[in-house]
Amino acid sequence: MNVSRLAVSCALTLSLCSGVRAQEEPQQGHTNTNKFRQMYQEFSTPNMFRTASGAPGPAYYQQQADYKIDVELDDKNQKLYGSETITYINNSPDKLEYLWVQLDQNIRSKNSPALQKNEETMAPADTPQGFTEKYLTPAFDGGFNIEYVKDSKGRALPYTINFTMMRIDLPEALKPGEKIAFSVKWWYNINNHITNRARSGFEHFPKDGNNAYIIAQFFPRMAVYNDTEGWQNYQFWGNGEFALPFGNYEVNITVPADHVLEATGELQNRKDVFTKTMMERYEKATRSFDEPVIIVTQEEAEAKEKSFSDQKKTWKFKAQNVRDFAFSTSRKYILDAMAVKIGDKTAMAESLYPKEGNPLWEEYSTRVVAHTLQSYSAHTFDYPYPKAISVHAKNQGMEYPMICWNHGRPDEDGSYSDRVKYGMISVIIHEVGHNFFPMIVNSDERQWGWMDEGLNSFLQYLTEQDYMENYPSRRGKPSTMVTYMRGNQDFITPIMSNPENVYQLGNNAYGKPAAGLTILRQTVMGPELFDYAFRTYARRWMFKHPNPEDFFRTMEDASGVELDWFWRGWFYTTDYVDIGIKNVRKFFVASKPNDEVKAVLNERNIPENAPIVFMAEEGKENYNDNLKTGKPQDHSTPLREYLLDNFSPEERAQLRQPAFFTEITFEKPGGMPMPLIVEYTYADGTTDTVTYPVEIWRKNDAEISKVIATDKEIVKIAIDPREETADVNITNNFWPQEVQKSAFDTFKEKVNKP
Ligand SMILES: [Zn+2]
Repeated sequence: MNVSRLAVSCALTLSLCSGVRAQEEPQQGHTNTNKFRQMYQEFSTPNMFRTASGAPGPAYYQQQADYKIDVELDDKNQKLYGSETITYINNSPDKLEYLWVQLDQNIRSKNSPALQKNEETMAPADTPQGFTEKYLTPAFDGGFNIEYVKDSKGRALPYTINFTMMRIDLPEALKPGEKIAFSVKWWYNINNHITNRARSGFEHFPKDGNNAYIIAQFFPRMAVYNDTEGWQNYQFWGNGEFALPFGNYEVNITVPADHVLEATGELQNRKDVFTKTMMERYEKATRSFDEPVIIVTQEEAEAKEKSFSDQKKTWKFKAQNVRDFAFSTSRKYILDAMAVKIGDKTAMAESLYPKEGNPLWEEYSTRVVAHTLQSYSAHTFDYPYPKAISVHAKNQGMEYPMICWNHGRPDEDGSYSDRVKYGMISVIIHEVGHNFFPMIVNSDERQWGWMDEGLNSFLQYLTEQDYMENYPSRRGKPSTMVTYMRGNQDFITPIMSNPENVYQLGNNAYGKPAAGLTILRQTVMGPELFDYAFRTYARRWMFKHPNPEDFFRTMEDASGVELDWFWRGWFYTTDYVDIGIKNVRKFFVASKPNDEVKAVLNERNIPENAPIVFMAEEGKENYNDNLKTGKPQDHSTPLREYLLDNFSPEERAQLRQPAFFTEITFEKPGGMPMPLIVEYTYADGTTDTVTYPVEIWRKNDAEISKVIATDKEIVKIAIDPREETADVNITNNFWPQEVQKSAFDTFKEKVNKP
């Protein structure tokens, strides 16, 4: 159309706007690329295992692996010796000819392909430490040394090791419903997790000659077998974390007698390993809901640093329905604990730290653990495990059921910056939070990093903001993703990517999903619908193995909000948000047509005196400033007559009396649709914020217009004024542009167009 869009009569408007293409050459056809089309191509088909509603289906099953493990730590030589019996229960409808067992320690064997997975280039300069590590240090001799794999009668079972996976060939296929028990014996050299960053290992403290151990992935663990992957035997390359079945554990850990140890599960022989004083203090802690009780003091821990006992003690643990097991041990450890009320149950919040963590750890760690359990429970389900432990380990942030490792170390004189303090509080919230995702809502981390990291970073953000007003959260706020999302597209992958194949794991699997969930909660769905749906997902998949579609489907199913456009844009593509104001035009009711309108009327054979409401555009022919004021019918005889003929005086009194008609054209250079949040400022300084539903973009992905009829003149317009949508370019968010320039000068200088 080359005629200006005037609000003339309905008949006229309709005839002008008809989309019929008569008498023209047919165009090429095209497939449906509408951003609002349903996700039938991207999603796997619902089935009896996983329903279209996102819930487990009637045929849903999961395997079970129960472990009895004995391990012994050789503190002098930093070796770990272990043997285990795994009872594996085949709940699948399939016959299994072999079993896959994960040997994650093998990532540290000398010839591990993982050591060669990255490209290397010669740097023109390096630090002596970096140079030494890269070129002078021989590869660490890590990895499992498997001594045997035997069946329950003691007969050797044939096995094949492929890098971090071990296939055990069964003499007879394991039928549906059957179980098999087998035993493995192993040992390995424990790595130093400081010099060679790893999720597990020891830190050596040269001043007192002690080690502190954070031990995980320390035993051969069953791989997941399920309806989606068959065996999840994607190798452990280091970035993609773990996929593990649930089971019950009995673990006996033998360490030097002067060590203090904590682990997944409930300690079975507390009286054997605690002193009488420790027992009394622990009992007190189980009744202390306000503050932690110190069970091993710093003074006691420092005294033990010198004892180097040759005696041994065995700590015995049992854990029900966990997907993994980890422990931490050292004679340097201080221990404190407090009780936390969760629903009608009490859990213990605990911390384990060397004196190097103080004074920070004694003050904050256990309290933060308690806060995290309560906050996460409110958003998901009541924390079901009996305890949660935060262990201090330099540079670490790593999670296991009921136990996690966290950084946050003050300087040697005990001083610390806000960065260290909030970094510590954040990492504790994050790692304790992982108890919910993925330890209980047991997603496949090897395949999908975002399912635990993204959901967890989102709850971490809510928990941080709940901990303290204006907490300096690093992730979760949509605006924190702007720099990443407007970056070089060659180095951005969709969230729906395997963690091994992404460029920036932190932004991809943590930051962007967390920001996306904040947008869903605050802007798209509202907290009430979002929280109900999110809780539904958590409860449906508690102690089960969800897939991405189970999350996407449940969020829609439980809220009644259509979200395919969001999943597609935010999770399956690297589209970013950029919405702007392209044009603003003001109209007023006019008593007679201008030349442009006359031409249209002539073309259509409509007499000028036909009953039509004319509009005049500000600044154009026939525009009269006086028309800005007064009721529309004051300037239009046809409108006045129409109202008199069709409405009673009472009805006329109810009609709106807008004097100002503003047409705004919004543009969307970014690929990602988003609700259109617009703040209108009127001449009297008052404002209105209107959120147009995202569906406004469903028929035109590039630009759309809206007409606002108001009794006050609109003088300013701002899009997304509270920065809710991660809009990557705000230079087009304001009208008039000059207003934006003066108010946002400093900000603009920093902003570059993508
Ligand atoms: Zn994490």
